Amino acid sequence: MGPTESILIEDMTWPEVEEAMDEGKRTIVFSVSSIEQHGPHLPLKMDTLAGDELSRRVAVELGDALVAPTVHTGCSSHHMDFPGTITVPTDLFMQLVTAHCRSFDHHGFEHIVIIATHGGNFAPLNAVVPDIARELDADIIPLADLNELMSLMNEGMQAAGVDYEEPVIHAGAAETAIVMAVAPELVREEELRAGFEGEVPVTRLLSEGFRSITDEGVLGDPREATADAGKAILEKLTEAMVARVEAER
Ligand SMILES: [Zn+2]
Repeated sequence: MGPTESILIEDMTWPEVEEAMDEGKRTIVFSVSSIEQHGPHLPLKMDTLAGDELSRRVAVELGDALVAPTVHTGCSSHHMDFPGTITVPTDLFMQLVTAHCRSFDHHGFEHIVIIATHGGNFAPLNAVVPDIARELDADIIPLADLNELMSLMNEGMQAAGVDYEEPVIHAGAAETAIVMAVAPELVREEELRAGFEGEVPVTRLLSEGFRSITDEGVLGDPREATADAGKAILEKLTEAMVARVEAER
């Protein structure tokens, strides 16, 4: 794909965005993610990397959509015991999402698809979307059901023949599989170790922080990950997200 054929608005010029919209690309897709710890084996940008990949895949499948840059900074206070994590207050996050949507609405996009890839962003995103939808002409389509996202990721693993399920997904097999599929050079293979395995309520992780459960910030066992499972997860998520958008717009 040459530079003028990109669907990433950050790589395009304004006349290219204008032309693409004139040709019917009136849906914009972006992800809200994070820069936060993902164990000793995955980079801090794990959720951002997944957001970039899913936004692009969903837009390509829709065929009439452009992609805006992923919002890197999310609500990650529950990971602040681990160096490098960045967190923003909930109200600032909601303002950031609102400002993005206002910008897209201003330019005439008719549908705004928001993909959440980081657990801490789901509640504030779902809280602010009704206000944004009331204010703007554009339709807001949030893809922000955390339980559905985690179920689909487990299903993706199974589809690739990995017989392993994670009740809560963070830095374990499913996320490691995604990085193996998209950017294998970023996986620290020598640091793959099992983290906390078992049931733990998401509410407790959010309130008490990950370090109260897992010393290294890992849930599940990343050694179960394979690149094929990562591909299967991304395909399953893309398919489900595209179906939701098609049904809603
Ligand atoms: Zn993550």
